Amino acid sequence: MNQIKRLNIIIKGIVQGVGFRPFVYKLSANLNLKGIIINSGSGIIIEVEGSQYNLQSFLSKLHDEKPITSKIDIIKIITLKPFGYLTFDINNSIHDQKNVTVPPDIATCQDCLEEISDPNNRRYLYPFTNCTNCGSRYSIIRGLPYDRSQTSINEFTMCKFCQKEYENSLSKRFHSQVNFCPLCGPKLKLLNNKSEALSYSLEALKQCINELKNGKIIAIKGLGGFQLIVNARNISSVNKLREHKNRPEKPFALMYSSLRAIRTDCQISLLEKKLLTSPQAPIVLLKRKNNNILNCNIAPENPYLGVMLPSTSLHYLLLKELNFPLIVTSGNISGEPICIDEKEAIEYLGSITNLFLVHDLPIVRPIDDSVVRVIQGRKLLIRCARGYTPISLMINKQSYPNYKKLIKTSNVLAVGSHAKNTVAILKNNQIFISQYIGDLSTEKTFEAFKHTINSLKTLYEFKPQTIVCDKHPDYISSHFAKAQKLPLTKVQHHYAHVLSCMLDNKLKPPVLGITWDGTGYGDDGTIWGGEFILVLSNYYRRIAHFHPFKLPGGDKAMKDTRRSALGLLYEVSNFEDNLELSFLREFSKQELSLLKQMLSLDINTSSTTSVGRLFDGVAAILGICYENTFEGQSGMLLEYATINYKTEDSYTYVITGTKYPQIIDWKSIIQEIVQDVFSKVSYRKISAKFHNTLAEIIVDIAKRSQVKNILLTGGCFQNKYLTERAIARLEQEHLVPFFHQHVPPNDGGIALGQIMAEVMHKQ
Ligand code: ZN
Ligand code: ZN
Ligand code: FE
Repeated sequence: MNQIKRLNIIIKGIVQGVGFRPFVYKLSANLNLKGIIINSGSGIIIEVEGSQYNLQSFLSKLHDEKPITSKIDIIKIITLKPFGYLTFDINNSIHDQKNVTVPPDIATCQDCLEEISDPNNRRYLYPFTNCTNCGSRYSIIRGLPYDRSQTSINEFTMCKFCQKEYENSLSKRFHSQVNFCPLCGPKLKLLNNKSEALSYSLEALKQCINELKNGKIIAIKGLGGFQLIVNARNISSVNKLREHKNRPEKPFALMYSSLRAIRTDCQISLLEKKLLTSPQAPIVLLKRKNNNILNCNIAPENPYLGVMLPSTSLHYLLLKELNFPLIVTSGNISGEPICIDEKEAIEYLGSITNLFLVHDLPIVRPIDDSVVRVIQGRKLLIRCARGYTPISLMINKQSYPNYKKLIKTSNVLAVGSHAKNTVAILKNNQIFISQYIGDLSTEKTFEAFKHTINSLKTLYEFKPQTIVCDKHPDYISSHFAKAQKLPLTKVQHHYAHVLSCMLDNKLKPPVLGITWDGTGYGDDGTIWGGEFILVLSNYYRRIAHFHPFKLPGGDKAMKDTRRSALGLLYEVSNFEDNLELSFLREFSKQELSLLKQMLSLDINTSSTTSVGRLFDGVAAILGICYENTFEGQSGMLLEYATINYKTEDSYTYVITGTKYPQIIDWKSIIQEIVQDVFSKVSYRKISAKFHNTLAEIIVDIAKRSQVKNILLTGGCFQNKYLTERAIARLEQEHLVPFFHQHVPPNDGGIALGQIMAEVMHKQ
């Protein structure tokens, strides 16, 4: 029974850069197994030989005890005759086909934190401490397989102490590709904005800590690029940062030294605690405590704070010495990508600060901090970046009928949307999604976009055969796609949202996608954003949408919420009837008459079905938001207005039309809201009633669609009240609601949907 056998095992997934090889080495040693393990471009190859009993426990431990940041997507096992291995070896990597998942960046592990806190350890206070379980990965990788020579650490040679650790199977740095120490690794340097060095190493760290205590803003080179940091409790410094970043109202993220420190300002649920302390260490939106002393200019009128724990040794060492939290915001010019090299940082940030804490480990690609919030007892990604990216998803063969043809013919590149851009590639049956790139309007973001595509091509040795873009004719990404001179598929924006949510939940058609967002180019040339899209196996149909309304001044309405309100009221009644509404008094007489003319003569207006703009209009009518200083602000404020207000009331709506698409007539909603405002009903109650109405509309159309699986997607479903209310109501009606899991509901998920469209429809 206990005869000697050999297993050949191929594993794909996140198995490189996460301490997998050393783990397997130790496991084999414990079980007295011999063999070999190799990193290859397409995964990990293990040959392992020994008694059947031990091989069995090897396989079960492989699953149960694998490093926490690793992930096994596919495992193939073949049993072979014994080869006669005498030892177990970690062999050099083989450079074959590139199809492996690149490891994400991982927050410093507890063991490493203990080392840098121990005066007797040789890494005491060393700000770049990491091990096989933690540290920089995706941000420093140039190529695959994941080896020191393929990362920017290549420029440092291990000292003899590090080399010893690397070779010692008992060390947690055994075969760590990123191993270095104070002797041989990167060093800190504090510069002024003339690039002159002020201090080095520990001295630089100390000086930084003192300057932070003095209320100074400092630019530090973090894991994925420069960040601006400042004492969050120092009101004048925070104001200065706001002014310089031209960010009057958008909340800043905070970094606290510990969970205990966070608890002084915020409530933390069990799941939120798990997210904060996870290897991804994202920014988590937490409910702030009522009596908290943080000045409101960190997150004005916002019951939530975006909070994270230190994710690198450097951040940990800084925070350890401070008795206040830090504001941590990306070091960039508003709307541009985060700076990754010090020259650029000094050029762009030199007017904000004259202190730059830098080091000599090159960052290969900029990566922002990720943002998550808990909705319906689950993590929802709002910004998918450090720790989570690159994301890889597999396409399940059975679900998509045309799949087989596709893998033979196509490597697909999807260039995503315009705002919150991400890109994605399909290679064989694996999809890789890039980190959050940003809004493509600026030249620098466009550069970052091109750079990301090129780096995906190099990493995965990927050559696109087809390219997919948004249908919008003026998107920069669409222009770029066209210029590639490859077969081009244009995919409707809201349909892409639905497909993204469908694949994210491993579903297949038929599904009903409820896609609500700010703006997206519709099939009829108008702006969509309040769509109900039925997806069948190889086509989609817009089965319902909101009644369109006009936006005077077109794009200007994206910021100026009062214009959406005017557009809504124009459909309902004369403005004269509603002159008491405070938002109307915000206009001058001339402005108002000009805007009325635009509406009645249809000059310089666009037409929209967008729920995002509907939120804008309602927020303006309630007088709680006249200007979106950042995207989604009005929706955020309306959501926050519902907090601690409970009502089951809702407004009246009408669904018209017997044929598709049916029209959701919201006029009575607006009329009743205006009446409520005049009757001095609190804006909290109005907002809750408005949200409830939207949930009823979702249920209504869902029931009419005759489809069971209802997907909630689009930026509007970052709204916790709306999402949770819709889910609860759909479940009451025995429908099955889904929302996003691995990609954000906002335009960050569009690239994934574009890939899906190509997979489903390519013949
Ligand atoms: Zn570690
Ligand atoms: Zn060393
Ligand atoms: Fe969208």
